[in-house]
Amino acid sequence: MLIPEIVKILTNAGIPENEANIEVKLLIEHFAGYSLVDILMGKKLDEEKLKLVEEKAKYRAQTKKPIQYIIGLADFMGQKFIVNESVLIPRDETEILTRKAIEIINTNNYKWALDMCTGSGCIACSIAMNTKAQVIGTDISTEALHTAFSNMEKFELFNKATFRKSDIYSKIRPEERFDIIISNPPYIPPQLKNSIQTEVSFEPDLALYTQDEKGLEFYEKITLDAHKFLNPNGYLLFELGIGQSQDVANIMKQNNFKEIQVIKDLANIDRVILGKI
Ligand code: GLN
Repeated sequence: MLIPEIVKILTNAGIPENEANIEVKLLIEHFAGYSLVDILMGKKLDEEKLKLVEEKAKYRAQTKKPIQYIIGLADFMGQKFIVNESVLIPRDETEILTRKAIEIINTNNYKWALDMCTGSGCIACSIAMNTKAQVIGTDISTEALHTAFSNMEKFELFNKATFRKSDIYSKIRPEERFDIIISNPPYIPPQLKNSIQTEVSFEPDLALYTQDEKGLEFYEKITLDAHKFLNPNGYLLFELGIGQSQDVANIMKQNNFKEIQVIKDLANIDRVILGKI
């Protein structure tokens, strides 16, 4: 089978052509061990290996399981993070939050960062890789923490990024203090569950949905006690769901956060909010 025919397996299943091309490249790299350069240079591709790629493409087409779960890796901040169905697949938008956190930490020479709802640990590990700060990532899911730990090991961030099972602040000790708290929490209202893409249904409910109808539960809980764990002038940063910036800004103002700023994503959606205590 030729590469364009494998791409066709995906486009026939309704996957847009530009995405199908990228996905087939990823499948070839991962399951056949060829680079894009090998393919472009016309290197002869082994039939056996291509057969495996074809099978994986068929599985993707039939199930609509996200390609990142099939491969077990997702691109984020220029690195390949280990992912599985116990963690959210890192989104491009989350790089906006992560880059802003890195900028603040490096500008202020901050030492202590807390990443709440760490999932795969993609934010915590990226901060640990790009700053001198010590990062603690927390999550309520034991499986997610195993994945975060695997990423910490993969990127050799021993002692720089550590992970802890905690329901919001439940396992943060009263004397612990951070210069910055970052979170990309679950923010999708539960009533939207029926209208999501098939691909998203493979992701853990725990990482996607809140209990309340506005999707604000985690913003409220994290903001309410943030002052107890932040150093003076410390920062709180969140990723936002669509249409949530005004509500989250109000929650932050009510809890004495100042200098509130919102950053938009490429689609002009308010995507990140930050403030100082
Ligand atoms: N922090 C992880 C991410 O940004 C997981 C977020 C979540 O589970 N809500 O991908």
